[in-house]
Amino acid sequence: MGKTITIAIDGPAGAGKSTLARRLAGRLGFLYIDTGAMYRAIALSARRLGIGWDDAGRLEELARESRIELLAGGRVLLNGEDISQEIREPEISEGASRVSAIPGVRKALVEKQQQMGREASVVMEGRDIGTVVFPGAAVKIYLDATPEERTRRRLKDLAGRGLPAEFSQVLSEIQRRDQRDSTRADSPLRQAPDAIYVDSTSMNEDEVEEALLKIVRERTSNGKEVTG
Ligand code: C5P
Repeated sequence: MGKTITIAIDGPAGAGKSTLARRLAGRLGFLYIDTGAMYRAIALSARRLGIGWDDAGRLEELARESRIELLAGGRVLLNGEDISQEIREPEISEGASRVSAIPGVRKALVEKQQQMGREASVVMEGRDIGTVVFPGAAVKIYLDATPEERTRRRLKDLAGRGLPAEFSQVLSEIQRRDQRDSTRADSPLRQAPDAIYVDSTSMNEDEVEEALLKIVRERTSNGKEVTG
């Protein structure tokens, strides 16, 4: 197998990572890996089984035993069942943030993510991709936007799925999640020292896509990593 290339995209909730990572992967012909969907799958499975979101032992076991598949088009399968819609519920966003603070859960999912990156060239997005999962990634991007702009985008996304919500409620959910994700002891959300910071607050999706593509092209060449 030839050498694979990893593009790591990290950043807070609602910064546009999923949309942009998917678009970038499409442009590059790489696989798109949404690691947040994996934490969401564990939170959903725990809720269904009546396992508390702080039950470290059982959650770790669940994370090890669950078969999570990320299919083209953004579909997510848990042990063969399509859970793509259910994992987007606000309660599961909160649950994913809770279960992802458990080191045993992270260890199990990080191993799966590293395996995916060994098998193919990927655009992988999450919170710890450039810092923990692939510290040697060819390209690292930290995608950010103000909390208010991230709230507006989340509201638009929810409205598009027929789920209208209150600005203040979504803003406080986003802030609570950011706070938990960036202050946890294991793999907190933070910008890797060698990541490129992109503030997308006043950019549209096409502009962000072009900016990211430019960064990737400057650092890779003909599918090979450029060093130095
Ligand atoms: O990206 P998304 O909002 O779907 O992620 C859901 C939650 O999963 C995040 O709030 C975060 O707590 C957790 N997560 C993580 N590490 C990742 C991806 C997501 O801790 N690499």
